[in-house]
Amino acid sequence: MEGLQNRVMTVSASTPPVQLRTHGAGRPCVITRRARFSASHRYWLPELSEAANQTRFGPCSLAPGHGHNYELIVAMGGPLDADGMVLNLSEVKHAIRAEVTAQLDFRHLNDTWPEFDLSDPQGMLPTTEALCRAIWTRLAPHLPLVGLRLHEQADLWVDLLPACHPSATAPSAAPAPMEAFLSIRTHFAAAHRLARPELTQAENDAIYGKCARPHGHGHNYLLDVTVRGAIEPRTGMVCDLAALQRLVEDLVVEPFDHTFLNKDVEHFSRTVPTAENIALHIADLLTGPIAGLGARLHKVRLQESPNNAAEVFAEVPQLEMVPAALEALVAG
Ligand SMILES: [Zn+2]
Ligand SMILES: [Zn+2]
Repeated sequence: MEGLQNRVMTVSASTPPVQLRTHGAGRPCVITRRARFSASHRYWLPELSEAANQTRFGPCSLAPGHGHNYELIVAMGGPLDADGMVLNLSEVKHAIRAEVTAQLDFRHLNDTWPEFDLSDPQGMLPTTEALCRAIWTRLAPHLPLVGLRLHEQADLWVDLLPACHPSATAPSAAPAPMEAFLSIRTHFAAAHRLARPELTQAENDAIYGKCARPHGHGHNYLLDVTVRGAIEPRTGMVCDLAALQRLVEDLVVEPFDHTFLNKDVEHFSRTVPTAENIALHIADLLTGPIAGLGARLHKVRLQESPNNAAEVFAEVPQLEMVPAALEALVAG
């Protein structure tokens, strides 16, 4: 992805004040490493008829399949060694190449790993979720994983975190998570004006600055919707992706796109359409319908400009578990 660097490092903020130890030995840190591969796949279950496969998986069911340029981000954590590293980067590169990219690059995923052998009743479709999980299984014995992100394309990616697994204790010792975070990205253009109607223009200017100017202004909003759920053992899916995309399109993009939010979207005739309030409203609109798809809305991220974004964690009890590893994955 644009802007992502090969390595991102996050030193834990809770680290006690510096005691001068050689090269940071013993202090905790998360590092990330990016890798890329290209592969094809096909969603087609032998127990379903041709028509049923087509209804269920749409164009993804077409023979002989289609391909993606995948991007994998591996987050690893642990104390620094005497050389000032979590682990030697050449070992990281070697493990990712040997266990993942050398085996998958330029391959048809359905024919690669036994996890995707659909003639076996235990086999799973090679979805982004299933692929990310299979990669976790293969890397975990070699690297101290704290998170994995797999982009199928710029507007679709999956995160796996050990915290998703109820029995997770030591991350890499725990089995591969059976829950995944699936994110989709879309966009809409809209205008708004930030002002509270009970205040004077001068008072609104003082609070909202240029955003309070009387005739409004516009943004090209980028909207990321993240859902969380168990990976279904046969389809390899957290939820029906096409249905999720349709929900976001029907409930958010279509009613919001090319509007003046304050006037055209009823909710914002009463509520100041700050990025925060728009993100909250989107979360409120999507929570119920996404539950109807068998997943849970985890997060809404609304980017208003290159300089500001708002994030709403929709799973309230989970708010305090915003995983540090996830932050490391998105940094860069
Ligand atoms: Zn595909
Ligand atoms: Zn604005």
